[in-house]
Amino acid sequence: MNFDGKVAFVTGGAVGIGAAIARELAQNGAKVIINYNKSVDQAASLLQEAQEKNCQIEAIQGNVSSLSEVKAMIDHIIASYGRIDIAVNNAGITADNLLVRMNEDDFDRVIQVNLKGTWNVCRQVIPLMMKERQGKIINISSVVGIAGNPGQSNYCAAKAGIIGLTKSLAKEVAKRGILVNAVAPGFIETNMTATLKEELKQAILDSIPLGKIGQPEEVAKAVAFLASDWNTYITGQVIQVDGGLVMA
Ligand code: NAP
Repeated sequence: MNFDGKVAFVTGGAVGIGAAIARELAQNGAKVIINYNKSVDQAASLLQEAQEKNCQIEAIQGNVSSLSEVKAMIDHIIASYGRIDIAVNNAGITADNLLVRMNEDDFDRVIQVNLKGTWNVCRQVIPLMMKERQGKIINISSVVGIAGNPGQSNYCAAKAGIIGLTKSLAKEVAKRGILVNAVAPGFIETNMTATLKEELKQAILDSIPLGKIGQPEEVAKAVAFLASDWNTYITGQVIQVDGGLVMA
């Protein structure tokens, strides 16, 4: 895969799956702009690592759930690079609890960051991509947005919403040469899953046909494929990267 000359924006790109996506794109020639919210030090060390590897990564702070902050980030990218070829909506949070115990704030926050944040970025980049008559958008959903999960009604609703958003937008912009897809990871080893109880981790592991927890790099490779020139005919799809955990 070759991303020479391409400009890519990755939200939540300082840590976890987002950092793996940023590395994969940058190592293959893209100019990558990551967004971070709180991970200031991790963003700085990713930039340092990129410099050592002669890769181009820039970082911008911003909260994806704010449309005005997203607009400011996109305006900055256009002023500096003149274009955005690839947008990866990766930023996400969880606030797990059974619905009967979940408070309104935990529902709203998870929808705001995961779903509204994805819409905010799409809303800002789509007009630019329409002018160029090309572009790739990859939205990070989750297999629990397909299968559901107890204790995650907020997160599953957001991730299922991302799938609906992805398919609708794919249909809206297909004739403009823009391909929009979702990637739905299964159980991936990052900060998000690090806090799960050992018994739960083991139970999930036991139900993964490939018999191992996924790595961020394994998700990044699927995202890179969808973002690359190799993908000319896949749009509106949900690609599961889950070791076979959920089979429809
Ligand atoms: P992670 O390590 O917790 O990373 C979450 C990322 O989201 C961080 O970069 C964080 O940035 C960013 N973020 C959170 N709130 C934000 C906000 N308001 N504005 C901008 N960025 C924000 O988790 P991860 O596992 O890499 O998750 C990445 C994506 O994959 C998420 O969408 C997640 O739902 C999805 N996913 C993960 C798994 C899994 O098993 N790990 C499975 C399915 C789907 P800061 O650190 O800078 O705040």
